[in-house]
Amino acid sequence: MAEPQAPAEIAPGVLACEVPGCGVAAFAAKDFQRGDIVLQEQAIFISAVDTPSRRNEEIYKALLAELHSRRLTADFTPNAHLGALVALRDLGVQGCKDFLLKKCHGDPEQLPNPRLARQEAAPLRRCIASGILPPACAALPAVEYAKLRMAIQLNGFRFNFNAQEGDFGYDTGEVLFDKISRLNHSCTPNLDFNLSWDADNETVVNTITASTPIRTNEELNISYLPLRLKLPVEERRAQLLKHWGFHCRCSRCLLEGGAPCVATPAVSRIPHRSDTRSEGSDSEGICWEDLCDPDATDTKC
Ligand SMILES: [Zn+2]
Repeated sequence: MAEPQAPAEIAPGVLACEVPGCGVAAFAAKDFQRGDIVLQEQAIFISAVDTPSRRNEEIYKALLAELHSRRLTADFTPNAHLGALVALRDLGVQGCKDFLLKKCHGDPEQLPNPRLARQEAAPLRRCIASGILPPACAALPAVEYAKLRMAIQLNGFRFNFNAQEGDFGYDTGEVLFDKISRLNHSCTPNLDFNLSWDADNETVVNTITASTPIRTNEELNISYLPLRLKLPVEERRAQLLKHWGFHCRCSRCLLEGGAPCVATPAVSRIPHRSDTRSEGSDSEGICWEDLCDPDATDTKC
């Protein structure tokens, strides 16, 4: 059994450590006032299509061509592959192993079996064959490719530079951060996030601020559903379970809905991210298409 790791300071006054049964969580090592910047970080990679460089369009268009070729299974979605293919192009196989495959990739039981994983790796093979990705990317086993896709889905934020709803590339792809991926979800988060384009470095910066006074030793949380927090507890839990794979046991959910019927970690390390633009900010988080709820008035999905 692995030895528990000592807390690591990931920013001044912010510690990340293993919580038995819950994975990694981040805690305040000092008091923060409302509005204080708690964490600020550049992206480790960007698969968002709507960036000034538009450099991810080629891969996205290749995936759209796959979709239209009908060679793939009916449930094939380009967005489920875009992040992994861009990560392989930009970070290489070793970089993906070092930075992304160490992140949580969800419940192992949700991963495809080796045979299905090989089928689902078809877009990777074709991008290599067509020269969009370098041949060295073929060194990534299909099962690892499936884990990579899941890690990106669970840890990515959505980002749009200028695109509006209906524009090509709108809400497509994601942005990942290393340290910020240690922040877990709560339905009463004490942090806000804000994504902005850093033109000097041609990257996305995520600024995490305290949305309320935070005391030393408090867990630091963002919301993966920042614009859906008004939903009833059952709906919040259902969306978190469906898209991030955990039963929310945050203090608010426990108060409003009691303990969930299944035994899962109180605050799962599994996911990250929110699904929509953060209230009161320009932030965006992942907005998986089928999260769209025509009855939700406070979201932009
Ligand atoms: Zn909750």
